[in-house]
Amino acid sequence: MTFQDELAVTLALEDNSLPALAEAEKISLVGSTRAELGAAFLSLGVPEREIKMRTAQLWHWLYFQGATSFDVMLNIGKGLRGRLAETFSLTRPEVIAEQVSQDGTRKWLLRFPPTSADANPGGHGAEVECVYIPESDRGTLCVSSQVGCTLTCSFCHTGTQKLVRNLSTREIVAQIIVARERLGDFPGLTPPTDGLLPGAENRAVSNIVFMGMGEPLYNFDAVRDAVGVLSDGDGLGISKRRITVSTAGVVPQIARLGAEASPMLAISLHAVRDDLRDKLVPLNKKYPLKDLLDACRDYPGLSNARRITFEYVMLKGVNDSAAEARELVRLLKGIPAKINLIPFNPWPGAAYECSDWERIEAFSDIVFNAGYASPVRTPRGRDILAACGQLKSETEKLRARARMVAEG
Ligand code: SAH
Repeated sequence: MTFQDELAVTLALEDNSLPALAEAEKISLVGSTRAELGAAFLSLGVPEREIKMRTAQLWHWLYFQGATSFDVMLNIGKGLRGRLAETFSLTRPEVIAEQVSQDGTRKWLLRFPPTSADANPGGHGAEVECVYIPESDRGTLCVSSQVGCTLTCSFCHTGTQKLVRNLSTREIVAQIIVARERLGDFPGLTPPTDGLLPGAENRAVSNIVFMGMGEPLYNFDAVRDAVGVLSDGDGLGISKRRITVSTAGVVPQIARLGAEASPMLAISLHAVRDDLRDKLVPLNKKYPLKDLLDACRDYPGLSNARRITFEYVMLKGVNDSAAEARELVRLLKGIPAKINLIPFNPWPGAAYECSDWERIEAFSDIVFNAGYASPVRTPRGRDILAACGQLKSETEKLRARARMVAEG
């Protein structure tokens, strides 16, 4: 449901002859675009000529200050604040589970309020995962763009989960708001002093990667608008050079992403031949390697300082030979590229194993000697199952177990 539809439903509910809206019936403005905030003010009867100014005020409170209540927004008159609070809320998604790894990685399972887009009306809302990975020079938040995923990449656990829907722009941005709040990134909030976060003068969340659940380019409009909200200098202020959208290769949308949002691009490559990539990333049958790499070459703004990241998951005996490393180098010739080797993260029932460490090193050496920095992504948060799709499924397993116990 679009913001406008939701607004229409809420306004219809809000009839003066009826009792005031319950908190849960109000629309949360957290994660809204400027256009959505403008529509919200218009719906309250704010005159057209004031919309831009009011939107700018609310924007600052939402995204710069991280306000959790309309009461603190003192530059918005008391009357208008009151009307805002009657129809709208600043409710964040609920944190269902939080895990902190030994290495500082944090993983949250977030639950959104139910919307009509959910398959189980009356049940609880959609749940997604969000992972925070602190490093010495940055803090990266990995966000989800969909609940579940329609791609069926054979090594990825998310593809085995049934429920699928797109997240709205608000639901995507809300993941960053929750993380910033939890990590003390908004003014006035003190970060937890566990020594695992970057210094207080730095923001904990400096980088965003769309590498959680879902295929971002199958949810194009919401992802594009979320990049707009995140990178807005008057609010969250995360530079587009620090926002990376990762795709399995939805070729026609790559040019659009470049034209309409221009974040950094990552490609889940994983294989250097079409026959193998067809099996690992079935989307390859629709958009084969040649088309994918052509789209990469045309991505706007590429330079040595602005490279495409190619992700390559290391699968034992499947895609990890020296010949494949050399072919990878050949394929990427002429594209400003970074190569990210990812040790396969096993999950119960997976048909693959992670390559042996010597293989990964040998592969990495070939890539490195060809002139690419080829960091092997260190497995992070192993102790909290921070790999794709795993927190959610663990939580579901625990719930199923609890049900079984309850039912005897
Ligand atoms: N759909 C998008 C983004 C989500 S996946 C995409 O395909 O890029 C983020 C990255 O994690 C992708 O490179 C994906 O291939 C990789 N990945 C998925 N499952 C994995 C696993 N079990 N081990 C290691 N990497 C995995």
